[in-house]
Amino acid sequence: MSAPKTGIKVVIVGAGFGGLTAAIECHRHGHDVEIYENFPELKVLGDIISFGANGGRIFNRWSDGAIARKLRSLSIDLTEYGFRIHKYDTGEVVYHQKNTPQNPEAPVFNGHRGELHEVVFNYARDELGIPIHLNQQVNEYFEEPDRAGIVLTSGEKIYGDIVIGADGVRSKARELVLGYVDKPKSSGYAVWRAWFSNKDMIKDPRTKEFVENGDTFNGWIGPDVHFLFSTIKGGKDCCWVLTHRDEHDIDESWSFPGKLEEVYEVLEGWDPICRAIVEKTPSLVDWKLVYRDPLPTWVSKHARILLLGDAAHPFLPTSAQGATQAMEDGVTIAVCLRRGGKDGVPFAVKAHQVIRYDRVRAVQKTGESTRDRWHKTDWKKVAEDPESIAFRREDWIHEHDAENYAEEVFDGILKKLAEPQSVEGGDSLPSGPTPVAV
Ligand SMILES: Cc1cc2nc3c(=O)[nH]c(=O)nc-3n(C[C@H](O)[C@H](O)[C@H](O)COP(=O)(O)OP(=O)(O)OC[C@H]3O[C@@H](n4cnc5c(N)ncnc54)[C@H](O)[C@@H]3O)c2cc1C
Repeated sequence: MSAPKTGIKVVIVGAGFGGLTAAIECHRHGHDVEIYENFPELKVLGDIISFGANGGRIFNRWSDGAIARKLRSLSIDLTEYGFRIHKYDTGEVVYHQKNTPQNPEAPVFNGHRGELHEVVFNYARDELGIPIHLNQQVNEYFEEPDRAGIVLTSGEKIYGDIVIGADGVRSKARELVLGYVDKPKSSGYAVWRAWFSNKDMIKDPRTKEFVENGDTFNGWIGPDVHFLFSTIKGGKDCCWVLTHRDEHDIDESWSFPGKLEEVYEVLEGWDPICRAIVEKTPSLVDWKLVYRDPLPTWVSKHARILLLGDAAHPFLPTSAQGATQAMEDGVTIAVCLRRGGKDGVPFAVKAHQVIRYDRVRAVQKTGESTRDRWHKTDWKKVAEDPESIAFRREDWIHEHDAENYAEEVFDGILKKLAEPQSVEGGDSLPSGPTPVAV
């Protein structure tokens, strides 16, 4: 698809999955778009990241499916293995969750964040020619009724019809939009995370079954703790994440090097295979899970600055939807801007929020409910109904087509926004439609 030029200039801050998707989709819908990003060069950072079918549907529309094919070769394939859920102490498999067949139009991807990110970054920059200005820290955001802008460290000002703050969980754009600094809160949990090669796993008879027969995915569920272990690229790479209680203050930073001794303490009394896996870990990250109360708005006073992705709504990993929801945001704003036109940018930005707000909130809640369900497992109930412990994949989340939905509802929302009481003040937005099928 290549839409006619709209003449709308979009300035995006942040080249994470949210910012990149917004840029790619703005390009697809005919807007002129540029990205400003803090990091000086692309590095393959992070470990496992998940994209639900609702994200796969977006990837699949890029370059006639070529991007999805590249991502597929880097992602886990659980067609044979499925997901095996164990009781933490006995190690017995209490439920073997079969893999649902992939929808070719909306495939699921789980892989290394840095590797998948690199594919999307290169597509945006090299194939579509979207300017991505690296090593550019944005220090300030500003807006006027008919334009918005950013100030770089050099003092240079960049203007656009709209600025999208896709600048992550420590967003600076959020300060301008809210008018105050909204500090992250501890969620009460942290995750130890690791990604490493299979070379020591394959030498150990206790662990080699996980790495010599293709990709695998196992989870051990215990009281207030869950441990997920997967092997990827035919068993070549190993990855585990262990979510546990953690009340540390997260004022300044939330990602530290982790200590194996602390992991062993949590795994005391657990199935010994868990420790056998963890022992092979060369290094790990201690990632504090921050949380925020839902922001009252993602839209600035003149509706020329929009918060997108983690800047607007951080997710818990148990939802497996943080990056996908950032992508849905990117798709939605691109559609709204095209439908609103150059003179209708503020309406488009407000319509975006109406379309997205309640759905995002509902998806966010699934992260809490999965965690709580697993962490307070009633094992008697699981014995009677093993499926009750499954990782739930809700159709209303995964079957959503963000692009079609935005196209469908845009006119109705615009009409509502055009009613005088809806736009007065600009910062009191009507609440969004009921989330799809919630
Ligand atoms: C380095 C890194 C590693 C991660 N690893 C994982 C992982 O292993 N697993 C997982 O599930 N999630 C991971 N995440 C989080 C995950 O990528 C996001 O939750 C999700 O993809 C939503 O993306 P986003 O684009 O909204 O935000 P992010 O991915 O956080 O992207 C925000 C971008 O904005 C840039 N930025 C921030 N402030 C400024 C500024 N003032 N000026 C210019 N640029 C700015 C940042 O450098 C960053 O590239 C990671 C994020 C980062 C940044």
